[in-house]
Amino acid sequence: MTAKIIDGKSFAEGLRGRIAGHVERLKTEHGITPGLAVVIVGHDPASQVYVSNKAKQTAEVGMASFKYELPEDVSEAELLELVRRLNEDDQVHGILVQLPVPKQINADKVIEAIVPSKDVDCFTPANVGKLTIGLPGPVSCTPLGSLMLLRDQLGSLEGLNAVIVGRSNLVGKPMAQLLLRDNATVTVAHSRTKNLADVVRGADIVIAAVGRPEMIRGDWIKPGATVIDVGINRVPAPEKGEGKTRLVGDVAFAEAVEVAGAITPVPGGVGPMTIACLLANTITTASLINGLVPPS
Ligand code: NDP
Repeated sequence: MTAKIIDGKSFAEGLRGRIAGHVERLKTEHGITPGLAVVIVGHDPASQVYVSNKAKQTAEVGMASFKYELPEDVSEAELLELVRRLNEDDQVHGILVQLPVPKQINADKVIEAIVPSKDVDCFTPANVGKLTIGLPGPVSCTPLGSLMLLRDQLGSLEGLNAVIVGRSNLVGKPMAQLLLRDNATVTVAHSRTKNLADVVRGADIVIAAVGRPEMIRGDWIKPGATVIDVGINRVPAPEKGEGKTRLVGDVAFAEAVEVAGAITPVPGGVGPMTIACLLANTITTASLINGLVPPS
């Protein structure tokens, strides 16, 4: 049996439609236009693409979009000053500093300078703490998008064995918190995990967030399991021509699709959910800043 392909692109489109509805209600019922500020430093081409996509989608759902492009050699003090101004700007409800930043800037210092109430990436210690103890606030975008796809696919996650491969602050750790909240039994595996293939074989839900192309093989997957492939890896694709590349996930898709019950493709799975969840977080922060209950 071949797995169902989970279409993250179309789910994200639907989510953006619902977000546009929330934006409209905030505008008409409360006079609030949610605003997202994105700061980019330097000319990294991948970051430029992400930031343009974020700005475009922010405007498409009816939010105010503020984009700040700083030169590669900007000082840390200048960037911190911009963050301080955005913290105080009433039109801004979400602040995102695109990482990585050039080496003269300490990224941790910049993240800590963002006021937690506008930290739509959920990077600040205060918001990580809220996520862990279950208080309302922004939720890490990629894990939130992955959770939405899982709920849509499986309904309840209660009692299911979930194995997350990867323990980064960006993906693995917040993913574990979200799955625990949904009453899954969670295992977090990493580079020191012994017998990783066997650990993954016990999983009803596999979340792959490793950053190693096609590392998780088809025979690691329990028949019928739901596989969420967070990995985005660019690999050579000589079949497309000299010097060409293609994107693959952390799961060997062609093998896993023959075993799993459902699986996200790369591209078109988790990736499109991340920006949509950034917009969802901006609705959450805009609501909380104004003393409103965020939409669920
Ligand atoms: P990190 O490099 O920060 O973390 C990778 C994790 O994988 C670490 O915990 C590491 O373990 C673990 N790991 C590395 N090698 C192995 C191995 N051989 N066996 C088991 N575990 C291993 O990556 P991120 O979490 O930031 O990203 C993971 C992937 O997700 C990347 O491909 C990235 O591009 C992608 N990504 C996609 C997003 C999207 O929007 N779809 C958003 C964010 C990331 P240890 O801690 O022991 O070193």
